[in-house]
Amino acid sequence: MARMTSSARPLLNRRLAEFGTTIFAEMSALALRTGAINLGQGFPDTDGPEEIREAAVRALRDGRGNQYPPGPGVPELRTAIAAHQQRRYGLAYDPDTEVLVTAGATEAIAASLLALLEPGDEVIAFEPYYDSYAASIAMAGGTRVPVTLRPDGDCFRLDLDELRAAVTDRTRLLLINTPHNPTGTVLTRAELAAVAELAVERDLLVVTDEVYEHLVFDGAEHVPLASFPGMRERTVNISSSGKTFSFTGWKVGWITGSPALVTAVRSAKQFLTYVSAGPLQYAVAEALALPESYFTGFREDMRVKRDLLAAGLADAGFRVFKPSGTYFVTTDIRPLGESDGFAFCRALPERAGVVAVPNAVFYDHREAGAPFVRFAFCKRTEVLQKAAKRLAGL
Ligand SMILES: *Cc1c(COP(=O)(O)O)cnc(C)c1O
Repeated sequence: MARMTSSARPLLNRRLAEFGTTIFAEMSALALRTGAINLGQGFPDTDGPEEIREAAVRALRDGRGNQYPPGPGVPELRTAIAAHQQRRYGLAYDPDTEVLVTAGATEAIAASLLALLEPGDEVIAFEPYYDSYAASIAMAGGTRVPVTLRPDGDCFRLDLDELRAAVTDRTRLLLINTPHNPTGTVLTRAELAAVAELAVERDLLVVTDEVYEHLVFDGAEHVPLASFPGMRERTVNISSSGKTFSFTGWKVGWITGSPALVTAVRSAKQFLTYVSAGPLQYAVAEALALPESYFTGFREDMRVKRDLLAAGLADAGFRVFKPSGTYFVTTDIRPLGESDGFAFCRALPERAGVVAVPNAVFYDHREAGAPFVRFAFCKRTEVLQKAAKRLAGL
């Protein structure tokens, strides 16, 4: 623990004390040291479309976005986001009052919670959860209330009764991630309808993390919660260009929502980054307008990668939960005679030359996540083949 020399008080405040370095830092360092294939962190090992990179270069050269862009985002991008929501989901948002560009989905989540929570408000999120949720809820002074997704056949499912039972008089907000990282679960239309009904009945705000909206497989369908009755005015809908266009380093994200919600979130966002990634915003506007063939091609490419890695993991003896979305496969290591995901992942680089992430880090109930391990398949085919071959030796 880092301490000031003059007092016994820790430097890191109590709100953040439980969040040390992320597991990704530890596992990526391990990958580097051992030369293992890194299937831990979820970033693609090939960049997004060449013409979108060129669009970014053009914007830089033409002097578009090199100075502070407008606080809500450049008009071209806000218009493209609104058009995307309309075209894909039939959701109409006014680009001037109902769209806000953010520094990735991460800032959108943080700004939403900082804006909408009072200290002590309870936030319900599915467990395992994306790692920034717990920290953002803590920074906003909220209390997180995890609802655990449970293994069910070859996937993880939400227990709607458990969700209902988690709502108390102090619940302010549901933080809903679908398609879900790390389990790959995509909530069905019926499940979403039940979540929406609950939110309306208990008068809850809803923040939805939809960064994998374009990565759904096997006929699964992504439906924004905002499209259900009574939801538009209570839902902050979050997405990002990082996963959809394979530019995770650009950090261009956005929210859509009612003018009141967008204004509230903007109040927090303006004092976090104010604005970011000016020239890249113009490029993402072009990306969102790519023909449908880009989105179907991307999805199909990822499905093939998913199948390749899932088959390799099954052959190696893992129980594999087949993801209906995202670019992660969650596995159960118990058929391999293992039960501690942490120990397994720390040893895996030496044993098999592959890095994975123990899902337990995404749980408050660590024991519920202990035997599960996550692998990312957003990697080149030859890398996945090599990883599968190495894992076969387990
Ligand atoms: C990657 C990811 C994010 C972060 O998105 P950025 O746009 O890179 O900030 C948020 N939520 C989930 C579930 C993710 O997997």
